[in-house]
Amino acid sequence: MASLADASASASSPVSEEEITLIVKWSGKEYTIRVCGDDSISELKRRICEVTNVLPKRQKLLYPKMGNKLADDSLLLGQIPIKSSLKMTMIGTVEDEIIIDQADAPEIIDDFEIGQDELVDVKDKDVNKQKLRRRAQQYKINLLNPCRAGKKLLVLDIDYTLFDHRSTAENPLQLMRPYLHEFLTAAYAEYDIMIWSATNLKWVQLKMDQLGVLSNPNYKITALMDHMAMITIHSDSRGVFDCKPLGLIWAQFPEYYSEKNTIMFDDLRRNFVMNPQNGLTIRPFRKAHANRETDEELLKLTQYLLAIADLEDLSVLNHKNWEFYNEDNAKRRRHH
Ligand SMILES: [Mg+2]
Repeated sequence: MASLADASASASSPVSEEEITLIVKWSGKEYTIRVCGDDSISELKRRICEVTNVLPKRQKLLYPKMGNKLADDSLLLGQIPIKSSLKMTMIGTVEDEIIIDQADAPEIIDDFEIGQDELVDVKDKDVNKQKLRRRAQQYKINLLNPCRAGKKLLVLDIDYTLFDHRSTAENPLQLMRPYLHEFLTAAYAEYDIMIWSATNLKWVQLKMDQLGVLSNPNYKITALMDHMAMITIHSDSRGVFDCKPLGLIWAQFPEYYSEKNTIMFDDLRRNFVMNPQNGLTIRPFRKAHANRETDEELLKLTQYLLAIADLEDLSVLNHKNWEFYNEDNAKRRRHH
């Protein structure tokens, strides 16, 4: 164990945590971008998206001496000869169309579980904490409805959690996970609800609008969040990937939300890596046409959410056992 820790400590040199200021030329203008050596190319593209509105997947980055290294999104900036005040060129156009075809985004099927030791390592690593702090300063959560005192917080993924974004249908409602509105209505009694998708905000708004989530009279959504709020993590066993750090929400609304009263549902466990005690891995809702009649995941999860709503501290629970918690509770109630 000690040797592993030593190896990872020496692998991430202190230089990688230093800020690098890059100049990106695009469409006749120059933009200043701040990143650090431990950020990946995909992270850099997200920063560029922030100031140019060109989606990361539409960006092509050019710099003479780097060949096509800049095309590898998973590469860390510290691994390429990049230094402050370097000027690169970006080619890409802003999409006017808000209908973004999700089908051309690479699908992540190989979700993985990170071992307990490494999990602790990832969330406690200084470089990751620093990334989170910077992101919390950069990304402002826009409240659609005010936070409510005394409520817990439920954070929801969209793709495969609330909606089957891969299937096609004449009406998006056919791809909506069964019981979505019932679930949100019941949860709203005890939880503020935020929706956080790894896509972009326009798509999140469009999708939620189409499903009637933003106009349902029985509940209100507190905020929508997108890929710009995510951070890139480097793990020794799994390489580079993005995750959804709840600390970003806690940093912006400390008087309402904390690790004690927040739970997040996502079909990808990796998204919880910065806050493993607050994540519940939901069964993915795929092949909507075949599974629409039988999928009851949201119905069961409603029971769980309500069963734990009175607890002081949700982070002491092991959400992996959520289905057993339901049964235990039901049994206890029957015996009383
Ligand atoms: Mg998903």
